[in-house]
Amino acid sequence: MSIGKIIDGKAFAAGLRERIAQAVPTFVEQAGRKPGLAVVLVGEDPASSVYVRSKGKMTVAVGMDSFEFKRPATIGQDDLLDLIDELNQDDRVDGILVQLPLPDHIDEAAVIAAIDPAKDVDGFHVVNAGRLATGQEALVPCTPMGCIMLLKDELGDLSGKEAVVIGRSNIVGKPMAQLLLAENATVTIAHSRTHDLASVVHRADIVVAAVGRPEMVKGEWIKPGATVIDVGINRVPDDEDTGKSRIVGDVATAEALAHVGAITPVPGGVGPMTIAVLLRNTLVAAHARAGLTKPDGL
Ligand code: NAD
Repeated sequence: MSIGKIIDGKAFAAGLRERIAQAVPTFVEQAGRKPGLAVVLVGEDPASSVYVRSKGKMTVAVGMDSFEFKRPATIGQDDLLDLIDELNQDDRVDGILVQLPLPDHIDEAAVIAAIDPAKDVDGFHVVNAGRLATGQEALVPCTPMGCIMLLKDELGDLSGKEAVVIGRSNIVGKPMAQLLLAENATVTIAHSRTHDLASVVHRADIVVAAVGRPEMVKGEWIKPGATVIDVGINRVPDDEDTGKSRIVGDVATAEALAHVGAITPVPGGVGPMTIAVLLRNTLVAAHARAGLTKPDGL
């Protein structure tokens, strides 16, 4: 029995960060300033805090300015919108990222809508979603952008391939489907109401699983030789005695390995790509705002 290839997202992300770091000095020379990323964190959620800290470190490591704005969970919506407005006006800021989720009393859609689309490095603003959907230059959500980079690196031309995206969220599933369509794949979006998901998945040359259900996609669902991108991040109990947990994806990787041509592991696949693409989007936004051409290879 042949065993599929494991796609090393960690190494690919490190390479992307390296290319970004190499491109930053040229931007600084041409624009007379560093590219800057502002991250807004509301509340004290431990996972979000860890993520924001790690974003800050990686931003500085590639030579960009990192601006962090921590606000209490009790912040009023108007105060948060005022902060976004300040960042929209601030010329040192090329990218604005508001860490989600926000507290219940804040209207997430209103906050995203307040971000200048030219600084919307998360690609969640309807202007960027609309540009992506109509095939125009857009800032694209980081996780699906990372997935398409890994797919193109693995497969080259995606034209005419059968692709099945499982999940239809605005953050992953829908933009993923748009990106695959832009690469001329034949795209199906499956979701919680899809009938006979196993046979839908079985016809795919490319499977992207973005559901949030541990190891839901079984090995035997996969068409032999298919490329599988596992976006899921699910914490499951590992050892009942110690109470330890581990992270698994949406695909039953161990059994899928006997079927796939290649698969991203969890952790170490799509996960590391997300921050690397955030930095890439910040550099792309910085070039566009400065009227400069985007560097090659990004
Ligand atoms: P979401 O909850 O917004 O969307 C989940 C989607 O899965 C929905 O569209 C739903 O229709 C579909 N779904 C639910 N149950 C299903 C079923 N039984 N069969 C088929 N489809 C079903 O989640 P999301 O934000 O898109 O995230 C999906 C997963 O990706 C989560 O595990 C999340 O943690 C992970 N994620 C990872 C990264 C990363 O950096 N690697 C980034 C974003 C999200």
